[in-house]
Amino acid sequence: MTDFHGKKVLILGGSRGIGAALVRRFAQDGADVTFTYAGSKDAAEELARETGSKTMKSDAADRTAVIESVKASSPLDILIVSAGTLALGNPLEIEADAIDKMIDVNVRAPYHASVEAARSMPEGGRIIIIGSVNGDRMPFAGGAAYALTKSAVQGMARGLARDFGDRDITVNVIQPGPTSTDMNPEDGPMSEFMHGFMAIKRHGRPEEIAGLAAYLAGPEAGFITGAMHTIDGGFGA
Ligand code: NDP
Repeated sequence: MTDFHGKKVLILGGSRGIGAALVRRFAQDGADVTFTYAGSKDAAEELARETGSKTMKSDAADRTAVIESVKASSPLDILIVSAGTLALGNPLEIEADAIDKMIDVNVRAPYHASVEAARSMPEGGRIIIIGSVNGDRMPFAGGAAYALTKSAVQGMARGLARDFGDRDITVNVIQPGPTSTDMNPEDGPMSEFMHGFMAIKRHGRPEEIAGLAAYLAGPEAGFITGAMHTIDGGFGA
């Protein structure tokens, strides 16, 4: 446990999966948590009730909505962007609109949210983006555009770390490997294939990702910035 009492946290994409684990962890550790959702209203309201957090509908594919949701919760001590989509498939066949939407959610939203949060973030603030080990390694066909989005946030974090470092604001990327969520369920058809790439042959648990986020958001991590933190059971090793 890290003591986040008195800290204001916004989690973009908190209704399910890794985002929901982040909501639970930061709420348990005493933070004042707000999270966004797009489609999962019931799950979001249930989670808000369970954790005593606040929720708001905000589509991460809509730049104005992203900026407004950050403004409405600012000043923030901690921003975490977990909202993400995954469009896999043959690049010659996959819908161009699905690719562009993925770029909007996975790249443009973290950028605009981070910049907006930094406008009013106090010294020592924390910005954490949930990337993916696929930003480093794409060991199968059909993932070029997803990997593109996860590599893009690496460059963004390196640059923004320098932009905001003089205010002791840190900017980091967490890079999960296969993690059991609706996006990638451990009992799904791809599991055995993915475990073949891994040293620890199981999916990660969303709580394990949230634990790393709590560390990076906590007081011991003030010297860690512009860095990628892979938590993947050895998928990228
Ligand atoms: P899930 O599909 O389980 O959950 C996705 C979450 O993102 C939901 O809360 C969803 O909200 C939200 N979201 C999606 N699109 C939007 C949008 N347009 N606006 C607002 N919120 C949105 O995914 P995961 O929890 O698995 O993924 C979370 C992050 O982790 C993503 O960035 C993903 O790329 C990354 N990741 C996941 C891995 C995995 O194996 N699971 C591995 C590596 C990285 P709602 O349902 O309300 O729309």
